[in-house]
Amino acid sequence: MSFPLSPNATIGIVGGGQLGRMSAMAAARLGYPCHILTQDKDDPAVQVAHSVTLGDYEDSTTLRRFASAVDVVTFEFENVSAEGLDLLASLRPVRPAPEILRISQNRIAEKTFLHAAGAPTAPWRAVRSLDELHKAAEELGLPAILKTARLGYDGKGQRLLRDASELAAAFEELSPKPLILEGFVDFACEISVIVARGADGNMAAFDTVQNRHRDHILDLTLAPAPIAEAIAEAAQILARKVAAALDLVGLLAVEMFVASDGKVLVNEIAPRPHNSGHWTIDACPASQFELHIRAVAGLPLLPATRHSDAVMKNLIGPDEVALWPEILATPGLIPHLYGKAEARPGRKMGHVTRLFPRGALPGDFGIADALGVLTEPPKDVETLVSHSEVFG
Ligand code: AMP
Repeated sequence: MSFPLSPNATIGIVGGGQLGRMSAMAAARLGYPCHILTQDKDDPAVQVAHSVTLGDYEDSTTLRRFASAVDVVTFEFENVSAEGLDLLASLRPVRPAPEILRISQNRIAEKTFLHAAGAPTAPWRAVRSLDELHKAAEELGLPAILKTARLGYDGKGQRLLRDASELAAAFEELSPKPLILEGFVDFACEISVIVARGADGNMAAFDTVQNRHRDHILDLTLAPAPIAEAIAEAAQILARKVAAALDLVGLLAVEMFVASDGKVLVNEIAPRPHNSGHWTIDACPASQFELHIRAVAGLPLLPATRHSDAVMKNLIGPDEVALWPEILATPGLIPHLYGKAEARPGRKMGHVTRLFPRGALPGDFGIADALGVLTEPPKDVETLVSHSEVFG
């Protein structure tokens, strides 16, 4: 297969969730049918794709069948095994490369890589035994966060340790998986940058955004981040540096903390479209999904320009999705629903975007007002951004 992919070439996407769905919709606009590898024919991505291979991500027969149906492979789902992607890479080009997935799947490999790339992170130690946990806690100090090295997301597989008496129970709960202890970052806010990179090394990065979580799950993204220009720019530089060090071909989300002293630290990276980039569908001429597909297909990358400011609000679980009729009836709320049949608590069901003229992103009360029916009972601004939001 040669690049750029010719129109009508088939893009294979591993994973059937909303990220695959919105990637397939962007691909369709560029003339590429998508073929999804997933386990459930009703998955969000399958509903908008051309075709599907149903089966297990680890099964080599399934992987071979999928590869034979596509011209290039990408993924929207990080819990596929890197070995599975290796097998796919022996049959078809895989973008981003399996090695990049391998790094992002393991917090220890990820932090080691970031350190080598010159990207600062929270201080950390690998933890393989309770003894090592005690030693790490002494070295890093408490509070600190114990995390499973693999397969954690949205705060799952994490324990905040405030006191040495909590170490044994937390270790017991999370082991025998490989663990990592991270020093607690007293952050002022969380931000992210999404950067696309082509095979020729060209990059396009969307503006730095601010992310606010509720119950460990992304709730709001503010674009651009209402932070000092120098901090937003430092985040841009870091994201580009990491993408280049990875020799990325595709899309990378870099999640960062702004520490209370203004320093920017990388929290984690994801080599795929990211929830904090959903606003780009409505506020940019070319969204994160379009740039993802462009990078994967070898098309020219456009500058990641933003024509509007935006707030993205996730619709999480049964309570928020129950507001769908009111959302549809509210002028200015741009609705996105992912087609999931069942609204379980904590499940991302859709999102809405609200646009503002460039430079006119309002403050917290203006945002609350603009989100109308989706606004929670008022909280003071302090609580909206503090750690207690995340850790209760
Ligand atoms: P993660 O799964 O690593 O993205 O962590 C989920 C959330 O926990 C982050 O978005 C932060 O709000 C919080 N968190 C994770 N690691 C740290 C840390 N080292 N210091 C402070 N807060 C953290």
